[in-house]
Amino acid sequence: MKITDNCVVFMHYTLTDEEGQTIDSSLGNEALPYLHGGNNIVTGLEKALTNLIAGAKVTVVVQPEDGYGHVVPEAIQTIPKDAFGDEDDIQPGMQFQAQSPEGQVQYVTIKEINDDGILVDGNHPLAGKVLNFEIEVVDVREATAEELEHGHPHVGDTDSCGH
Ligand code: ZN
Repeated sequence: MKITDNCVVFMHYTLTDEEGQTIDSSLGNEALPYLHGGNNIVTGLEKALTNLIAGAKVTVVVQPEDGYGHVVPEAIQTIPKDAFGDEDDIQPGMQFQAQSPEGQVQYVTIKEINDDGILVDGNHPLAGKVLNFEIEVVDVREATAEELEHGHPHVGDTDSCGH
């Protein structure tokens, strides 16, 4: 069957940046499942996979506006040192994920620790980047009613969404 909204798609992917460095890959692991049309993956990739079938292999180049967005300068700011509790544990380069009150995942990268406080970058680590995906579609099936309700796939016993 073709990939359309409300399908669960299993894919292998390798994500590289503009310099050809591998950022992430599913190779060596199980194929990654996602719910097509469920906002589980970046929109540029979702669009490119629409109507493909199992066995398809494609290269997809996703621009920042269809990926993780552009870098927002206002998201780079200095916060008080005590915002992180024990500052001895904080190192430049560390990344945290936090949930906003609206339930959105926010990324925080520690840029620098100085006398004024801690310089943090709240942009997604891949914001502003052109993303190169090598994709192999492994399997396509219809989503179950429960998966549609949850907005994500349930696979084997590995699903731990907890509801
Ligand atoms: Zn679930």
